[in-house]
Amino acid sequence: MTDPRLPTEHLIPVDILAERISGKLRIEWSDGHVSIYAFEYLRGHCPCTPCRRRNGERAHEETGKGVALASLTVVDNRAICIAFEDDHEGCDYSFELLRRICPCGQRH
Ligand SMILES: [Zn+2]
Ligand SMILES: [Zn+2]
Repeated sequence: MTDPRLPTEHLIPVDILAERISGKLRIEWSDGHVSIYAFEYLRGHCPCTPCRRRNGERAHEETGKGVALASLTVVDNRAICIAFEDDHEGCDYSFELLRRICPCGQRH
């Protein structure tokens, strides 16, 4: 997990692509970094209050196994809203959060 204190708030996605066949979301950032998230990973990191309460700070990866994406919308150029096919909607995946949970394993 990347240090959340790193100054990421100036970074914005320049390209957002949902690859439904592979089940992944690809985001290219303004600094050229590319993040690739499995939909189930995003589902497990859903920032809504009930999910956060249920998941706590840790067990994110255990949730949302194999869930598919139903729709994706950019909200106010600061976050994305993701609807999953299990009828759950997470509407506050802020760009800052997405960058912070980038699963690439690098420090950024
Ligand atoms: Zn949720
Ligand atoms: Zn990364």
